[in-house]
Amino acid sequence: APKPRVFSLEPLHSEALALARERFDLVLPGEHGFERWRQEAEGLMARNAVVTREDVEVLAKSRLRYISKQGVGVDNFDLDALKAAGIPLMNTPGVNARAVAELALGLILDVARQCTAIDRKIRAGVAVTKKDGWAGQTLEGKTMGIVGGGNIGFLVAKMFHAAFDAPIILYDPFIDDEALRKWQGAIRGDGAFRLVDALDRLLEQADIISLHVPLTKSTENLIADREIRLMKRSAILVNTARGGIIHEGDLAIALAENRIFGAGLDAFVNEPPSLEAYPELCREDRVVMTPHIGAATEAAQQDTCRSMVEHLVEAFEG
Ligand code: NAD
Repeated sequence: APKPRVFSLEPLHSEALALARERFDLVLPGEHGFERWRQEAEGLMARNAVVTREDVEVLAKSRLRYISKQGVGVDNFDLDALKAAGIPLMNTPGVNARAVAELALGLILDVARQCTAIDRKIRAGVAVTKKDGWAGQTLEGKTMGIVGGGNIGFLVAKMFHAAFDAPIILYDPFIDDEALRKWQGAIRGDGAFRLVDALDRLLEQADIISLHVPLTKSTENLIADREIRLMKRSAILVNTARGGIIHEGDLAIALAENRIFGAGLDAFVNEPPSLEAYPELCREDRVVMTPHIGAATEAAQQDTCRSMVEHLVEAFEG
């Protein structure tokens, strides 16, 4: 049988590329005929490339059978259009969770001790000493609030609990019994783990708040002015999930008014984050920003890319 014609909207990593060339009639960006991906693709692969309603309408009328996504968040696809067209979309859940969870921990530590803020001063020629009001926070025993108890939220909780002997509060109204047992098994001890049924309770009680929900209509602006006002003044807020889950304007005002301690941000409405796009956030010492690098480790990229190709191979080979 002829190999399925598969287009990848982004370049592939070496191992995944070899597998894809072997099994598919593969076309990559810049290769001959790439511009006909909407008309010719039987299989489509993408990481962050945006696939709009208009794209889906052409794809659905043409030859498309499966889409495979490298990574977890599928908000770059018009999901309503895919559903209406009956086109299945596969992603790579869990494969990059470790890398993202490790970055979340790094951002928490950085904000708590203001490492990047102090480093920025030193590089700007300002002499900083520990007497200059740069007191940080000890994390031991701090209460960690996890919003979204999937693959990444679980690893952040597990590592934070193990490292800092910290109690964990989870808010996830969709968590099932099996997942809940996994949390209870990993985070043991009296009062060490608590599932709350209202986000407000978590926001009031947590010292660290780490976001691990997908971006959907119901999580957009999940954390806005009202929610930030519920947090402790000492709270550290971390978003390695998606831009738009936090209302960025409200967060900038809250930081300027010292209503929370600081924020670590890897996801933005406008990516990559820049001085032009975020002048207010850039004025705040206690903000650390990274440009969506959560899954950007060599291992995570190789693994998610291979997993994306494997899913498509399995789908075509039924
Ligand atoms: P996952 O699907 O395993 O977990 C998501 C969890 O969020 C689920 O348990 C779900 O029940 C819960 N949830 C959904 N809506 C909720 C709501 N309104 N309130 C509370 N909980 C809710 O996904 P994951 O692998 O843990 O990834 C989480 C998110 O992280 C992804 O959706 C993606 O957007 C983002 N992500 C970012 C990077 C990065 O580079 N920074 C990399 C990978 C994933």
